Amino acid sequence: MSATRSPVTTQIDFEQDGKQRGYLRVPHSRNSSAWGAILIPITVIKNGSGPTVLFVGGTHGGEYEGLVSLLKLSRELPAEAVQGRLIIIPALNLPAVMAGQRLSPIDGKDMNRVFPGAWNGTTTQIIAHYVHEVILPRCDAVIDLHSGGFSLSLIPYMSMHYLDDEAQTKATFAAMQAFEAPVSLVVKEISGEGLLDYAVERMGKLFLCAELGSAGTLSPQVATIAEVGVRNLLKHFNLIEGDITTRESLGLPPSRLMEVPEPQNYHIVMANGIYESFCALGDWIEAGQPLGQLHFVDNISLEPQPIIAQRSGTLLCTRGPGHAEIGDCVAVVARELEVGT
Ligand SMILES: [Zn+2]
Repeated sequence: MSATRSPVTTQIDFEQDGKQRGYLRVPHSRNSSAWGAILIPITVIKNGSGPTVLFVGGTHGGEYEGLVSLLKLSRELPAEAVQGRLIIIPALNLPAVMAGQRLSPIDGKDMNRVFPGAWNGTTTQIIAHYVHEVILPRCDAVIDLHSGGFSLSLIPYMSMHYLDDEAQTKATFAAMQAFEAPVSLVVKEISGEGLLDYAVERMGKLFLCAELGSAGTLSPQVATIAEVGVRNLLKHFNLIEGDITTRESLGLPPSRLMEVPEPQNYHIVMANGIYESFCALGDWIEAGQPLGQLHFVDNISLEPQPIIAQRSGTLLCTRGPGHAEIGDCVAVVARELEVGT
């Protein structure tokens, strides 16, 4: 699968020193525009030699803190301040971002389920393929900034996967902690295949995924977490000078180290209904206690169905809207991760 077969083009020269702001041009023929295109903003800042780090936001629409922090960074950071190469794509799935929804309105696809993509696929697959074939091979590290979107409300965290390679684990763990999120989380996904995460990890490169704000909002507190965290990672990778801004230096409690090791940490509803949570984010949860209950508003003969905690720990994530459908995740319980394990 050759990148030269990609229909995506750009005026950006990835090897050129200096700061370039431009677009990835993705052909998009439609009724109103025969030769039209989707123009995905991209900034490349390169100065001398050093690592290449890719920051991605807007993989999904409705997730704003990472996107806004990257827009600011791409405007504010001068090339002279950088040693190495920084690639910033604030809104990878631009059609979804512009529509304010998780999936692309063009093909209904989730950008973070289609990697490695396809050069002759749908629009979302074509974008993913270009990233996989042209941009990822140039990178040493990839940072993907998500938020809870419409459906999830969560404690802001930076996360990594359980990895097999010891050196990759150590490097990823150090970078995760440098972000200084309220929670640093080691996680086992239940999302299936097609994630950008796995594409990067399979190339042997460092990958981090943040989950920041909640339920489609953009709060000043979480926006600050994103902005400080992105700058901290630039310092961690020696792309810019300066010391890490710790949470303590901002008068905040230190980052908590947690893990989500099993599918049983996720709680799924088995019917359609209205989810009433009994617990707030950050609450201590005992295995066996009810996390909430599901109401059946269309059948008053049915009693509410309790959702029972399968593991003890801290409530890391709960459902954003009350409306829930069978198979939806309504709660994630995380446990403390002992340092050195
Ligand atoms: Zn997302």
